[in-house]
Amino acid sequence: MGEASLVEDYHRETIRDRHLPEKLVLWDETLRDGEQTPGVRFTPEEKLRIAELLAEAGVPLINAGIPVVSDEEARAVRLLAGAGLPTTILAAARTVPRDVEAVIDSGVRHIAIFVAASQVHLKFKLKMTEEEVLAASLASVTRAKEAGLHVAFVTEDTVRAPFPFVERLYRAVQDAGADRLVVADTVGVMTPLTFRWYLGEFVRRVRPRELSVHCHNDFGLATANTLTAVELGAVSPHVCVNGLGERAGNASLEEVAVALEQLYGYRTGIRTEKLYELSRLVEELSGVPLAPNKALVGYNAFSHEAGIHTHGVLAHTLTYEPLQPERLGRHRALILGKHTGKAALVEKLKERGIQAREPALAELLRRVKEVSERRSKEDVGRFVGSYRNRFDHPGLTDAEFWEMVDQVGLKAVPP
Ligand code: MN
Repeated sequence: MGEASLVEDYHRETIRDRHLPEKLVLWDETLRDGEQTPGVRFTPEEKLRIAELLAEAGVPLINAGIPVVSDEEARAVRLLAGAGLPTTILAAARTVPRDVEAVIDSGVRHIAIFVAASQVHLKFKLKMTEEEVLAASLASVTRAKEAGLHVAFVTEDTVRAPFPFVERLYRAVQDAGADRLVVADTVGVMTPLTFRWYLGEFVRRVRPRELSVHCHNDFGLATANTLTAVELGAVSPHVCVNGLGERAGNASLEEVAVALEQLYGYRTGIRTEKLYELSRLVEELSGVPLAPNKALVGYNAFSHEAGIHTHGVLAHTLTYEPLQPERLGRHRALILGKHTGKAALVEKLKERGIQAREPALAELLRRVKEVSERRSKEDVGRFVGSYRNRFDHPGLTDAEFWEMVDQVGLKAVPP
């Protein structure tokens, strides 16, 4: 947490308000929710590569997917379950008998059983009553427990559901043997303060054996809300590499783990120096490029161009860096451009053993700035254009779709 004599550390003022769990079981959802990112799919072999690196980074629990989705997905789950990885592999199921059987058949020892909880989901999506949801949940949990599985019970949209129903449902499944209860902010509407209140109520009313949370990033609050949950003792928060996931994604593995390590002084069991490699692998296999300004793993997270900043960092990294890039397996980058100052040039010249001297240094700086300002921006426009084009159409093209409609013989009915 920094050198006490150089920077103040006010985190110690809030230690009494934290009830961090003794042991954290980070639950990675990259291969399930992350794969549900629009346009993303992983082959079973790609899932294995990601799972191997997750395990190497010390992630203790990995959701491999939902085996009932397809034969390939079932193969992926079996592949991961049988790979002998030093981590726990979990698979997910709706509260539907064939889903639960598919998980049992896949060879995993852990299941996450999910159903929706809010009125809007029950009425418009599931078309089920509260009683039907309760009955289906109990049947699924009971079946999974009979099969000897460790059971996590998840409701979608927990935090927008009536509390009396949430309380009744979660108490019932816990009584039926559910080992771990997951509260989901499925559309990312919690704020840290409200989530603190919500989880406090949840713990008081349900008394979970183990609390887990699933936070989405629709308002950019997924990591903050997840940390709030961990502060309240949540043991197994869901995370995704690069914050992948539906819409704006989930809480990011690297943000949650490194914030806990660096800002809370908490030992997560994660080998943070593997996180950049993991991030790049997932970027490559998902096809979802990192935002350059993404916290910790974005390309700019440890880059400096402005003269004042570069000068500061060269004098002491604590001036403009809250942590060392090596903690993530990264390196610092000094960018030469319009905002460069002399300190960066002096440092750069050292690479070839050249001692900077005036007036050559001032002339060199003038040229660096001039070339940078004169440089054509054509490639910038082209790059952004191709990027936008890719994300405007991440799935099948319209032409591909309408051709299929034709092939299966669907036609417009004449009025
Ligand atoms: Mn989700």
